Amino acid sequence: MADTQSSSLMDGLHAPDVAGPAPAAKPRGVRQTAALGFAILSLVVLGVVLTRAVQSHSNSPSEMSKRRTLVDSETGTVFANHPVSLQETVPFTNPKTGKRTLFPAEACYWTKDGGAKLTPTYVLLNEAVGKPGPTLCPDCGRKVVFHNPLPPAEDMLKAAQIDAK
Ligand SMILES: [Zn+2]
Repeated sequence: MADTQSSSLMDGLHAPDVAGPAPAAKPRGVRQTAALGFAILSLVVLGVVLTRAVQSHSNSPSEMSKRRTLVDSETGTVFANHPVSLQETVPFTNPKTGKRTLFPAEACYWTKDGGAKLTPTYVLLNEAVGKPGPTLCPDCGRKVVFHNPLPPAEDMLKAAQIDAK
């Protein structure tokens, strides 16, 4: 059983905050300064864009996107191994609805009777959507946490053996 949940949350390449406060209506004398400021700002933005373009060019496709299992916070739909761009930040866009309602899912491999299962239940963490309180797995009722731990290896092995029969 390969651990497919080992990816860390490397979401969001934060763009440098280059946008200063936009100057409101101003007297004529300030125009040149404003124009100069705008030119500098444009250069900074251009620099950021170019740097990103070069970075994305040098990165292989596997580095530029990765696959995540996501849950839609509105519909509950699970998108298993959904490709997401590293440029995108949480929440990701649901391709079906066009809404940004997809959050990384935590996998729960526990069964109700305390054993393990090979096909996990994917759970949306309360904290991912800003809800208070612990997240309980709808299947087994256990608490689900960020980087949810797997059941003990021997239980996983047992599940694999049962599955193989
Ligand atoms: Zn569970």
